[in-house]
Amino acid sequence: MELQLQSQLQSQLQLQSQSHKQIVCNVSNDELSSDKWTRIQLECIKNNHLGKGENIFDIIEHDNQILKSYGISHKQIYDFFMKITYHFDNNMGIHNLSLTNIDKQHIKKIREREIKRFINLNEKHYQCIFKIKIFNDNLEVIRITWGGADMCLFQSISDKKYHGYEYGSHDWIFNDVKNDTWFYIADLLFHQIGKHNFFQGFDSNFRVNPHELIKFFRLKPDEDYSTEKNKVPKWDEISVENINIDNNNNLNYVHNFIGSKYSEIIFGNNRIYYNSEYAIIYAIDKIYSHHVIIDGKKADIPFFMKRITKYKINNNVLSEQLSINEINKNWF
Ligand SMILES: [Zn+2]
Repeated sequence: MELQLQSQLQSQLQLQSQSHKQIVCNVSNDELSSDKWTRIQLECIKNNHLGKGENIFDIIEHDNQILKSYGISHKQIYDFFMKITYHFDNNMGIHNLSLTNIDKQHIKKIREREIKRFINLNEKHYQCIFKIKIFNDNLEVIRITWGGADMCLFQSISDKKYHGYEYGSHDWIFNDVKNDTWFYIADLLFHQIGKHNFFQGFDSNFRVNPHELIKFFRLKPDEDYSTEKNKVPKWDEISVENINIDNNNNLNYVHNFIGSKYSEIIFGNNRIYYNSEYAIIYAIDKIYSHHVIIDGKKADIPFFMKRITKYKINNNVLSEQLSINEINKNWF
């Protein structure tokens, strides 16, 4: 009977895995016809990726020369941001930090520049914010997820795919803890720098200065920033030790509900506490939410949360879901 209960509990967990998404939105710069370049140039001006008097080739060439002077390639920058994304995705939901007042001031600045670009951005606009530390705690990273995405204007007009899950829907704020320096970048730039050598025009308030980027992250020539682990592991591949679920509050919670005598089952990140009457499932889940976005399309925005679900057990069978508590929701 216990096995039946266990498998029932297990099936409630529905462990999910995340697959690494390939970026296929557009062809490389040298495959674009002159017609397409004309369209891209006009679209970039219309959407403030370029200033009115700016020429896309001049901007790309200007920034190419800067990268050359440092011996840094666009691919290195792209790989570096993919590495950051990898570290972030693997720590988010597990090692979330609370925002300081200084963080909030930086977030306010980011929000203001987003409002300038997206006139429809308003209070209702969905956003979620996570903060973690990576790279031996030397770099604080805040990621803001918007309920919409800035499009890559190199994207072919025949390609109708919404790429907001991959890029364009996040702003990233970095704080070099030791030097107390800050750096902002929207993740459309991860893609545009990597795939189109485009840092945006001088008149774009999303432009990233290549000098500043290279200096801030102390990028080095010939360094391989690609990560073997460019896939996000399944939940159950992450070590349980990394999760602070056994703090006193959580144990008190279990004790209050099912008493001090219970059995425990561990599945990867998740735990089940149960006795003959009740069960608590403690899961770190990836939840999807649907939210309206700026251009009328819907976006699935993944975010993580700890979730405690209480069940009643009758005759060794999970009979009733009593309640669900979602904690560590990092709404802003
Ligand atoms: Zn693109």
